[in-house]
Amino acid sequence: MEGRPLAGGSMAVWSTEQRNNQTAVQAKEEIRMPSFVNPEKCDGCKALDKTACQYICPNDLMVLNKDLMKAYNQEPEQCWECMCCVKICPQQAMDVRGYADFVPMGASVVPMRSTDNIMWTVKFRNGKIKRFKFPIRTTPEGKADPSGGFETEPTLDGPVLFTEPDSLGLSAVWTKN
Ligand code: SF4
Ligand code: SF4
Repeated sequence: MEGRPLAGGSMAVWSTEQRNNQTAVQAKEEIRMPSFVNPEKCDGCKALDKTACQYICPNDLMVLNKDLMKAYNQEPEQCWECMCCVKICPQQAMDVRGYADFVPMGASVVPMRSTDNIMWTVKFRNGKIKRFKFPIRTTPEGKADPSGGFETEPTLDGPVLFTEPDSLGLSAVWTKN
């Protein structure tokens, strides 16, 4: 037997049948929140062979209607909701369906990238606007050092990872051998 809390702290006890019904309802009501294209803003990336959203989507969902020069998500059910397309779109034409824990209900949220930060603009349904800016890198574009300045270069056959053991602050990494 399993219970669910009621107002006032008492518990209602569910039968197995009720619990199974509840699980079925929850599965049926599973909410997908794929990103989507705002056709008024999308310019098809100005006829590039591959649009930015096509380039970035890890599930190859974005396609371009070349007659209309508008992109669309060909299979929203398969969207991973990773928001890569939202962040890369140069026209801010990809929209987010915001989760309740992400933005309040009815709010819109739009990212704007620069070379070292991303700014999210949240417009609440009462018209209020808030902006949140986050750094996305600590080195200038194209200047990141892959080794992070650590000297070690283990062989591909070796048991340690690139930059180890220096990046761990150790003189050696314990291995079975
Ligand atoms: Fe349209 Fe943006 Fe996709 Fe370019 S990246 S095709 S502007 S939705
Ligand atoms: Fe593809 Fe991610 Fe955009 Fe979904 S949110 S369409 S998985 S890039």
